[in-house]
Amino acid sequence: MTPEPMKILFLAAEAAPLVKVGGLGDVAGSLPPALRQLPPEVTGGRPLDVRVVIPFHGEVQQRLPAPEWVTNLLVERASGAVQARVFKVNAGGQVYYLISGPPIDQPLPVYSPDDRVNGEKYIFFSLAALELARQLNWQPDILHAHDWHTAIAVYRLCQNRLVDPFFQNTRSLLTIHNLPYLGGDATEILAEYGIPPTQNRSLPAWARSFPLPLGLLAADKISAVSPSYAREILTPEFGCGLQDFLATRQQDIHGILNGIDTAAWDPATDPGIPRPYSIDTLDLRRANKTTLQEELGLSVSDDPLLVFIGRMDNQKGVDLAIEGLRKALDLPWQAVFLGTGSALLESAARSMESEHPDRFRAVIRFDTALSRRLYAGGDMLLMPSRYEPCGLAQMIAMRYGCVPVARATGGLIDSIRDSRPGSPGTGFLFSDTSGGGLEAALNRAFQAYQNADAWQAIQKNGMEQDFSWTRSAIEYAKIYHQMSEDAS
Ligand code: ADP
Repeated sequence: MTPEPMKILFLAAEAAPLVKVGGLGDVAGSLPPALRQLPPEVTGGRPLDVRVVIPFHGEVQQRLPAPEWVTNLLVERASGAVQARVFKVNAGGQVYYLISGPPIDQPLPVYSPDDRVNGEKYIFFSLAALELARQLNWQPDILHAHDWHTAIAVYRLCQNRLVDPFFQNTRSLLTIHNLPYLGGDATEILAEYGIPPTQNRSLPAWARSFPLPLGLLAADKISAVSPSYAREILTPEFGCGLQDFLATRQQDIHGILNGIDTAAWDPATDPGIPRPYSIDTLDLRRANKTTLQEELGLSVSDDPLLVFIGRMDNQKGVDLAIEGLRKALDLPWQAVFLGTGSALLESAARSMESEHPDRFRAVIRFDTALSRRLYAGGDMLLMPSRYEPCGLAQMIAMRYGCVPVARATGGLIDSIRDSRPGSPGTGFLFSDTSGGGLEAALNRAFQAYQNADAWQAIQKNGMEQDFSWTRSAIEYAKIYHQMSEDAS
């Protein structure tokens, strides 16, 4: 007899390929298929039936005009029940449920800058997603929620299962992708849905009506997207005021490094790069650098080509990168920064280009196609993040033989091995958050770059790393299994 599948209700604000704003979209797009494909020996004999539920965002509605209608449902609210309509699509073998309804249907960006608007949208979504499971009579063994946007589903579940047999055996895991985004004070919106703030004193008083803290309080297990970040959030520097509370939950906090889609990010088969190459044909990589230099109007030289690819946000240390490069003007670098975000940081990058038009390019847009050419043609990826829960750019870069020069924080510590003379790692790490830290790391990297064999050894070490989602999926499956054992 085939064993009962373990049912996982997987809730996220975004999931590639339907909608991707950042790393969360990559995770919610890649982890569910990797979980489904795990062999029975790592899932305790039970296959994993993972159903992904995301909001039917305005921009997805435009791209997907006619998905299959599944059901309508009501979410109770003081001012009157609100109707949600649920649709379904199959993308690449994975089923996605899409929830629409008045707070979601607005022509809004996926994330509004307005906390209130976001709160209305994601709290409604979280409650509707739980209701969907009931409507489908599909009793989840595990509710796996991500970040503040879906944390209220975990909080509501925890209240419901005391009185509601349907959810009695459902256990919850809440994954933290970026702790500082707590969801804002949602007292009024929660009150509309009949959800009072918690009185639990282990949470600081200010946090008792914020979605993420409420979810973290209620979750059976918590995970962070790298082992180092799971430790860092227990400290005042990274804990966002929740460190003492999180310390009380330390036993239940796991750190699992994200993966990357190794088929989608493969320099041997990437149709978007001028000259595909592999670890065995690394010399072909050079043509990608030359084409990139020509494309961007930089001189075609052997000088190291540094690339930055990421959100222009304080988190990513764009200012540190620029300061580091200013300090390292004696080194023969060329640099390309690709990103959008804060007007201040975008303008700092533009100023750098006007000061150094012969060696610096600022490309202020979101451009996946160009990002591929940068990973394939750049020699080094600059990633001086102030904090980095996991980070995907450094993993993609290593897979493409573009060596990361990164700050030793969070997932960057867990994915990059520092190189020393005579001991090639997979990149270069530094701790100091002044431009001087990056400058020192660049000096070490430039030393290694002088020696073609030493440099290739670092590139090859990086290309050989296993960043596949299977590795992460096995870790998640272990937690699911443990929780479902605890429930029975
Ligand atoms: P985060 O999720 O914090 O934004 P990650 O490093 O985890 O950072 O993931 C960022 C992803 O988005 C990577 O795949 C990176 O290549 C991509 N990316 C970021 N900015 C841009 C951009 N301007 N153009 C193209 N791709 C980008």
